[in-house]
Amino acid sequence: MSDKHLEYLKEYNGRELKLMEVCGSHTAAIAKTGIKQVISEKIRLVSGPGCPVCVCPSAYTDKLIQLASEGKTILSFGDLIRVPGSKGSLNEAKGRGGDVRMLYSPMDSVELALREPEKSFVFAAVGFETTIPAYALLLDEIIEKGIKNLKLLTALKCMIPVIEELCRAGSRLDGFIAPGHVSVIIGANAYRKVSKEYDMPFAVTGFKDKELIDGIYGLVRLCENKERVRNTKQGLVRNFYSGAVEENGNKKALKKINEYFEFGDTVWRGMGEVKDSGLYLKERYMEYDAGSRFLREDEKADARCRCDKVLTGKLTPQECPLFLRECTLETPRGACMVSQEGSCYQSCINRI
Ligand code: SF4
Repeated sequence: MSDKHLEYLKEYNGRELKLMEVCGSHTAAIAKTGIKQVISEKIRLVSGPGCPVCVCPSAYTDKLIQLASEGKTILSFGDLIRVPGSKGSLNEAKGRGGDVRMLYSPMDSVELALREPEKSFVFAAVGFETTIPAYALLLDEIIEKGIKNLKLLTALKCMIPVIEELCRAGSRLDGFIAPGHVSVIIGANAYRKVSKEYDMPFAVTGFKDKELIDGIYGLVRLCENKERVRNTKQGLVRNFYSGAVEENGNKKALKKINEYFEFGDTVWRGMGEVKDSGLYLKERYMEYDAGSRFLREDEKADARCRCDKVLTGKLTPQECPLFLRECTLETPRGACMVSQEGSCYQSCINRI
């Protein structure tokens, strides 16, 4: 069906639609396919706050740098190390002698903590519902092995509250390409409440070319047929990724998240504090937390960076005055150019 669907999207001549993909992996996949360039100009695809590294406030990087300066060993995934905070990046802190190490898997931190008991480790645990179960499993290991020299600085974020915030804040969106990986955990049903409240269509889609085309087509059709569809049993939510996403999500993973974490307000870069959009370690696990609850302020590394607008679909990377001038892959001025899931990074490497 994809060929027919692609033709439909190319020829589309209905009302102008602004559709947001709320997932960094979708941003990367869409950029790679070149779909944006071939579909009708009346369908605008914009990126949202779905790259976990991009939405971390500068205060998070600042706190990691502070911990490194106090002699802690910081463990982090690659992208985060280059993200500028208000006082430079972790990479720069490393250049000044800080012990900052890159990890590929959270579980590697256990091995390091056991191998170097004299060191005090802080693991930079960022992510959405997709990665949070892995952090819960990490905590299982830490507790089971009685590890006392490894803590987590968390920046864990939840999709539904931030989608609600985007609907509330009037980003003038017509529909969402729901985040595929997050949907595997939370399920397609998770979007029904917000969809109903804001009369907003959602399409849960995969990441392959065909899946994306079918998902975008399905979303456009939902927008066109809202009147007829909104009061049906499924409403305005469609799951086009049913091979991976169940209606009620992954119950085991959700239970595991719930075992260690509880909801709390958190700051998103560009959006400020969003109520109950974060997950924090529960009180009884506080001994494993390195100070995550108190990261509030959002001071930009470069005041001219428009990451805030890019992350909320208000501007494209090309509309940022620094894009490909001062802000490049080699000299990133904001998180969206550092992370491989960032909209600016993807626009840059795919030359769109
Ligand atoms: Fe920020 Fe650079 Fe993107 Fe501009 S191009 S919004 S400075 S990351």
